[in-house]
Formats: sequence, C-alpha cells, structure tokens
Amino acid sequence: MSFASNARAEMARELCVEPCCARAELAAALLASGGVSYRFGGGLHYRLSVTTGEAAVVRHYFQLLKRHFGVSAQIRTLRGGSLRASTRYQLAIPDEAAGMLLEASGVYDADAPFGLLAVPPERIVDYTCCKKSFLKSAFMLAGGIVNPERGYHLEFAAPGEEFADFVIKILNYFEIHAKKTCRKSKYVVYLKSGDGVSDALTLMGATQAMLAMQDVRVRKDVSNHLNRQLNCDNSNINRAMETGLKQIEDIRCIESELGLDKLPGPLRELAELRLNNAEASLSNLGELLTPPLGKSGVNARLRRLHDIADKLRCGEEVEL
Ligand SMILES: [Zn+2]
Repeated sequence: MSFASNARAEMARELCVEPCCARAELAAALLASGGVSYRFGGGLHYRLSVTTGEAAVVRHYFQLLKRHFGVSAQIRTLRGGSLRASTRYQLAIPDEAAGMLLEASGVYDADAPFGLLAVPPERIVDYTCCKKSFLKSAFMLAGGIVNPERGYHLEFAAPGEEFADFVIKILNYFEIHAKKTCRKSKYVVYLKSGDGVSDALTLMGATQAMLAMQDVRVRKDVSNHLNRQLNCDNSNINRAMETGLKQIEDIRCIESELGLDKLPGPLRELAELRLNNAEASLSNLGELLTPPLGKSGVNARLRRLHDIADKLRCGEEVEL
C-alpha cells in the first residue's frame, strides 16, 4: 500500500462521534467527490453517491450514513474497462434519502443555481471539530500525499475555485498555509512544508502517518547534517591541498632561479620537506623539522619562502 493509501485508511478507521462533525464530513464528501447529480422530471430530483478507489474509505461513509443519518446505502464495485484499471467503489445512496442528506450537509439552498452550493454555509464548519472533519473527509476522497522519502507534499483536489478557497481558509484557521493552483481545469490546494504536512496529518487524525513522516524527517536531517559536514571536511582538505601545491610552486621557482642550497638552513630544510610531503599539514611539517617547530613558526617560514619566490618572479633582488 502506498503512503497515501495508508494515511487514508488510517483516517477511515475512525468514525466521528458528534452529529455536527458527521454533517461536515458529509458536506465535504458530496462536494469533493462530485457526488451530487440532478435531473428534471416533475421538479428537480437529486441523486447522491460517493466514489473512491479505497475499500476502507467506502466502508467509512457506509457506516457514517448508517449511524448518523439512519441511511442504508449500497456499496458497488466499479471495474475499469481494461485489465489494468484499478477497482473503484461507489456508495449508492437511496434516492429517497437524497433530499434529507443535502439539507443536513447544508449543501442544498433553494436560492442557489439548481439548489446546490459550491461550498457549505459557515455554520457547517463552525466548530473546530467540524473544521477538522471537513478536511479529513475532503482528503479521504480527493486528497493526496507524496511519500515523505521523496518530498513533502500534501494536496486536496477541488471541484472549483470556491471549494479550494474554502479549504485554504480552514487550513489557515489552524495556521497551516496552503496555496492553490489550477491543473487541467481543476483546482488543487497544496502544502509543501514539512511542518505544514505533518500538522495537517495530525489534524485529520492520521497520527501513524504523521509519525512515519517524522521518522523520515529525522533520518533526512541527520543525513543532511552528515553530508554537510562531509562536504565541509572535503573542502578543507581541498583547500589544504591547494595551499600545499602553491607552496611547492614557490619552492620549485626558488630551486630553478636561485638553487635551494642558497637558502638559509632552516628555510632549506622546510623547503625540502614540503617538496616531499605535498599533502602534510603545517603541524605535521613542523613535527618533521629538527628541532620541531609549531604551526605558526612553520607558517612564518613558508611565508618567507613565498616572498622570496615572488621577488624572484619579479626579477627583484633577494636578500637572504
Ligand atoms: Zn463537530
């Protein structure tokens, strides 16, 4: 099972207790899954259904309708045309319950076009518990989350811009900042920050998914830290190598222009050591000298060699 399926299945296991939350879930389900259709014939007739790719989710709404609205719906299996098409599940709601459910969810409004609102009225998500229920339901039917191993991304597909804005407003209420985009004439609300995705999962009751994600985040942070340190170590080594090579260049210049035997004893000793130990650190070079010399002493002698080489390159006189 994918990370997203696991998260949805986890949310689906929990059935809400309060009737207010059940109404909010129903509203989100009908709107997010595009499950309301109507026909004319002696007035408007509505037909409701909830369609999903997950068995756990269809069972969730079956129980929700039964427990909170006393409606027995029917679960149907829809097989795709080709062998590879995945199975989808549809909860067919009896026509005689449609009017009552539309009223309960707040989605029905006699003044709206065809009696249907694009988003439920504020009273449906008045309480914090109902706001969470609305998000959870919208996610179960039209949400997605990328496996955190690949990145942090959680989204809600919205049937229209109004619905997208409604979802963003609820997320904002919980201080989760989301953005919307239009993809193939459908609106998508998405979050990209690790904290935002993790908070949203918690709100929607997917604690296990949130914890699994936190595990990945911790692991990634540790390996990022190690990588940064490794890069830093590598660049230090590279820098030391580069400096060593420059010093060797200086020494070679002195050797050809002047001859190392013209150098005072201590400088000559260091110059020869450096030629044979290109990668040695200053303190290592210091230890090889007789008598041993500290890092700053070695540095001072190397600077002296550099000055000599510079003068030789410019054709200036060198005093030794
Ligand atoms: Zn509630």
